[in-house]
Amino acid sequence: MIGAGNAGCPVAAGLVGQGYSVLLVEDGKAPATEQDILDQISPRLGFDQWVKDSTAYTYNTDEDLLGNRQQILHGRGLGGTTLINGGVREIFLQPFSSYSSSSFSDVLLLHPQLYTRPDDQDFDNWGISFWDSASVNPFFVEMETYVPATSGHGTSGPVRIQAPLTSQSLEDDILGFLEGIDFDIVDDGTSGSAAPGTAFKVKYVRQENGQRLDAFTAFIVPILESVSSSLLTVVSNTRATEILFNEGTPNVVIGAHFLTGGKNSWRAFVNHEVIISAGTFGTPKLLQLSGIGASADLVNAGITPRVSLPQVGKNLIARPLSLLAFSGTELLPDQDISQLANTTAIEQFLSGAGGWYSIPIDGLIGFGATNPAASLSDFMIQFTTVQPFFYLPIPTAFGFPCLLNHPVSRGFVTAVSANPFDDPRVFSGIFTDTEGVDLTNMAACISLVSRVRNNNKNCFYFYYYFCLQPSFFLFSFSAGRLLLQVVWKRWL
Ligand SMILES: Cc1cc2nc3c(=O)[nH]c(=O)nc-3n(C[C@H](O)[C@H](O)[C@H](O)COP(=O)(O)OP(=O)(O)OC[C@H]3O[C@@H](n4cnc5c(N)ncnc54)[C@H](O)[C@@H]3O)c2cc1C
Repeated sequence: MIGAGNAGCPVAAGLVGQGYSVLLVEDGKAPATEQDILDQISPRLGFDQWVKDSTAYTYNTDEDLLGNRQQILHGRGLGGTTLINGGVREIFLQPFSSYSSSSFSDVLLLHPQLYTRPDDQDFDNWGISFWDSASVNPFFVEMETYVPATSGHGTSGPVRIQAPLTSQSLEDDILGFLEGIDFDIVDDGTSGSAAPGTAFKVKYVRQENGQRLDAFTAFIVPILESVSSSLLTVVSNTRATEILFNEGTPNVVIGAHFLTGGKNSWRAFVNHEVIISAGTFGTPKLLQLSGIGASADLVNAGITPRVSLPQVGKNLIARPLSLLAFSGTELLPDQDISQLANTTAIEQFLSGAGGWYSIPIDGLIGFGATNPAASLSDFMIQFTTVQPFFYLPIPTAFGFPCLLNHPVSRGFVTAVSANPFDDPRVFSGIFTDTEGVDLTNMAACISLVSRVRNNNKNCFYFYYYFCLQPSFFLFSFSAGRLLLQVVWKRWL
């Protein structure tokens, strides 16, 4: 099993459960403890340091249609992207009132992961045997422990799911407001239905004590501590560089080649299968390094083609996210960064009692569609009170990320050389579909958020925060200037 992330860990655990002997190999290191994370978010160390500590891969995409490059961030270590996902909430060290470019710095705060289950239609529409919703849903249930127990969900799985211990201060107001513009508010949006026009409070993945949970801790640690541990070997700090083939029967894989610590070379051979679970970017890159892919791409990269599979790396689906942000007039409790240095808040968090550090990055999710009669959503909006993107002297900021759910544009991932340590080339492809479907859907989502802002008659609190100071501005970290053009042409 190559890659100990969100896919690799549960599959390795499942194979051990069936009596197979598994070697789980991971490029990165062991997960950070909660204390490590707190050290990293303390004022002494910032986001850049955290990335340099190698818990994440970062690299830039190719230019998109308008010449923007996006930074890609994905996890590296035992647990993969579940080490960093869910809430990477960047916050400001200096109070806004004392803003100046020289005193300005930011830090990263890790939140629990959002738990959602895809719409049943997403699985059914794939049309792949055993991946329809009826086949996969039992595995979701098996994995879950809902707290409190909830109809239709599991009660004894390794992944504990519950509502945030401490919520965002504006959450109920905004939920009420969505209700006011005809959203159905559902209690449980994680049961396989994501119908347009529904909204729900987000649930989170967490451990018993209220803190984060990564895939390695959830699925692999219990095995290492059990009688089955002899069936599982975990090797970290080791990169798979090539899949090995049987020279006599060219398309039969017999093992893989690895480098530990970037230099110690070794090989492993299998009785059954090599399973690659190296993530969206790592998996196609490893296949290509092994000569599996589009022959022309491989030759361009100086890799000898072995198996012609032109689709390898070709179906990248990037979900554009456009953040519509609003400035408010007062500092919200959620945004009071003086709490960062508050030892009581830290102790409260570490003891599993919630508090300031447990406030989730997104409190709500709502689904929408450009065609109101559609049964499958085109986009979703979230709500978040503290945003990382505001290098502006405003007292508070909160926003509604607009995120496409089913973009039709496609990008690609390609190895650029035979060197396994070179980053792959990534083209996001966002908004490249010739029919303009993705632009239309993004514009519809922005239009919906504009209703949230403009309709203030039912909610004074809302009015207060959203409308007294109408210096509303747009920011997009995925769509960039393209979004501004969309808004300009189609909405304003
Ligand atoms: C910032 C962020 C926030 C997110 N938030 C959420 C959320 O709230 N909820 C949610 O459900 N999903 C979230 N996701 C998505 C989710 O984390 C991913 O979909 C999921 O982790 C993918 O699992 P994976 O196993 O395919 O890849 P990963 O979890 O990325 O694991 C791949 C592993 O393979 C390793 N690897 C790569 N190449 C090699 C190699 N050659 N040899 C050995 N090992 C290798 C990597 O180091 C990594 O550990 C988020 C993602 C990001 C980036």
